[in-house]
Amino acid sequence: MSSSEHYSPEFLRDIHAIMIDIDGTLMRGNLALPGLVEFFNFLIAHNIRFQVASNNATKTLSAYQQKINAFGANLSMDNILTCSTVTALYLQNKYPGGKVYMIGQSGLEEALTQVGIQIIDGMNGKADAVVVGGDYSLTYEKLKYASLHIQQGAEFIGTNPDLLYPTDEGLVPECGMTLVALETATQVKPVIMGKPNASMFEQGMKKMGVQPNETAMLGDRLETDIQGGKNAGMKTILVETGVDNQETVISKGIQPDLVVEDLFELISLWVEQRSRGTLA
Ligand SMILES: [Mg+2]
Repeated sequence: MSSSEHYSPEFLRDIHAIMIDIDGTLMRGNLALPGLVEFFNFLIAHNIRFQVASNNATKTLSAYQQKINAFGANLSMDNILTCSTVTALYLQNKYPGGKVYMIGQSGLEEALTQVGIQIIDGMNGKADAVVVGGDYSLTYEKLKYASLHIQQGAEFIGTNPDLLYPTDEGLVPECGMTLVALETATQVKPVIMGKPNASMFEQGMKKMGVQPNETAMLGDRLETDIQGGKNAGMKTILVETGVDNQETVISKGIQPDLVVEDLFELISLWVEQRSRGTLA
């Protein structure tokens, strides 16, 4: 029996916009998950607005666009949102033209510099904030400077809370692990920008020009995608191609509005609900 049989998908009739997680939802490693292209074709054909929203801050928006479009989809840069963008907007509002010490990669660096934030080297200047994202060349030096800036009063910001990230080699350390190290060292808690924080969902809905009651969040992780979507007042859809499934829904006690095996199942349920809506 498919997981969706436990649920009532009628709410899909009233959904006009959707935020879509990437890893575990659209792709796994470098592979497209079943139904990726068909799902975007369905959304576009039915004028359903969408934002592809990743908690991963390492890649640039154009890197995501190229990666997804290589499978045959046709996304524009405006369809993509990452926690780097959300972090950049937060800093732009709070410290316009400010200085930050950054642990992270090109995706984060590009987002910050585009909004006029200066990235400082080592202790060359007083940082308004320390911004930490996933960094595959993390070093002792970087942890040292980040700790020193935080101890001197810089706001401690993390792009996302994820401890691990799925790759072809298995689950590897992500931003969250660096945040734990710095929090332990400095005894300061980071402000987290990505899912499940409200900023990411608010930013996505603002870009689409929609309200929570007409928007759904689709993702594979209960603690970030589903809990965050619920907090933002959206309907939530868990897809079982990534981290969580119907069994972990029960064990973790975070309840989505719908659970589907894959994107194909979601498309067919949605098509069915839309045709019923027209006949009613
Ligand atoms: Mg995911």
